Amino acid sequence: MSPTPRKPAATPASAARRRLKPSAPPAAAGRLDRMLGAHLAAGPGLVKAADRAAAVGAMGLQIFTGNPTGWARRAELPKELPAFRARMKELGFGPLAVHAAYLANLAGPNPIFREKTVELLRHELRVAPEYGASFVNVHIGSHMGTGIDVGVKRVAEAVEKILDAVPRDEESALLVLENSAGGGNGIGESVEELIQIHEAMAARGVDMERVGYCIDSAHLWGAGVALADDEDVERLVREFDRRIGLEKLVMIHYNDSKATHGSKLDRHQHIGGGEVGARGLAALISHPRLAHVNYYLETPGMEEGWDRLNIDRSLQLAQGNLKLKPLPAESPATTAKKPVAKKSAPRTKPTSVAKKAAAKKPAAKAKRGR
Ligand SMILES: [Zn+2]
Ligand SMILES: [Zn+2]
Repeated sequence: MSPTPRKPAATPASAARRRLKPSAPPAAAGRLDRMLGAHLAAGPGLVKAADRAAAVGAMGLQIFTGNPTGWARRAELPKELPAFRARMKELGFGPLAVHAAYLANLAGPNPIFREKTVELLRHELRVAPEYGASFVNVHIGSHMGTGIDVGVKRVAEAVEKILDAVPRDEESALLVLENSAGGGNGIGESVEELIQIHEAMAARGVDMERVGYCIDSAHLWGAGVALADDEDVERLVREFDRRIGLEKLVMIHYNDSKATHGSKLDRHQHIGGGEVGARGLAALISHPRLAHVNYYLETPGMEEGWDRLNIDRSLQLAQGNLKLKPLPAESPATTAKKPVAKKSAPRTKPTSVAKKAAAKKPAAKAKRGR
């Protein structure tokens, strides 16, 4: 069985209809009929990340378990895991998602990298229950110019290898495959390609109850999938449901896009401040058949105060208020009541290795959450 997404803390039904006050303190729970979480840095501490998520009104969390741009995973699990699991429960949070490192490529031809990918995901799936995570989310990857069909075949093989080595039990996390923006021969850029992957895995005998899907709205946009209004979202929902089944759509990465439609680029932007815009994003977060899906923001500048702003903007869209204020020119951190992140704290990279990598390559920061 798929892990059952835990419901956010119950609140009186009347609270659900309360009018949104954008600067009011948090508790998205009760103001939204579905789970909306955020990807936050776990570097400063997992309990801290959970508290921050709650403080900005999120109802759930996505994290990295290690350096997102490296292969190595920590040998020892963080000591605060029991406290973290307890806090997540106390907060009544929705399912925790672990985002696998970006180097993973399920579709590539290089046997060494494929082996590393398989190992990495086995590791993430093995440690996920320790974190209390329901999902291990991974970008499907790139066929590296070798062609879509052979790429799809490799994905199915890799997923089979990963799952075969990780025994399934009640606590097992789902392996959640994420759509691509299509750049660099990324596969899974359309629902059609996701269907192809889905069917290849099923034909191979992969235990499909252990696999789910994540759709990233910024990736859809970059890939050129229509996402501008209710009709577009309706088409997407129907297409996905017809050949894969909506119950397999367990996560949505809820992001606006800095990149233009069909650009094949993966550039996340603040909600309603990008190319997708308020109408398409409102349709995505209010579609009645997607209420079971867990939404996670991967928008920029989370720890600088943009997290609260993006949660508020998402709630406004969900409530049909498409007239969002223009984005502030400066990071909202200075106006936040309880800024958690120190100025010197790593914003997105949890380890010193990652910090070094970021120092070498300043653009890396902008790519987080692909
Ligand atoms: Zn992305
Ligand atoms: Zn994503």
